Amino acid sequence: MCTQTYYHYQCGCKQKGEFEQCDRLFDLKVNLQCATADSKDKTVRSYCAKHLLKEGGGGVVYIASKQRDGVPGGKENAAEPRDNSNRM
Ligand SMILES: [Zn+2]
Ligand SMILES: [Zn+2]
Repeated sequence: MCTQTYYHYQCGCKQKGEFEQCDRLFDLKVNLQCATADSKDKTVRSYCAKHLLKEGGGGVVYIASKQRDGVPGGKENAAEPRDNSNRM
């Protein structure tokens, strides 16, 4: 079955991603897809492009807890804190 990937961003946005034609139809070299595609969910570690601010573009920037102790290259937390994302 063909596979449609959906990206789930930390901001809550969901975006349609890559569509993979299955081997069966690919090998037939036809422009067909299965009547129903399998959907695959992929979690993205960051916000989407729409909700990430441009560097130098202004706006409220928050810094993730990573560099809290001044230890660069520390392990990334699987669960990012969400409560400080919109506070000043
Ligand atoms: Zn297919
Ligand atoms: Zn978003």
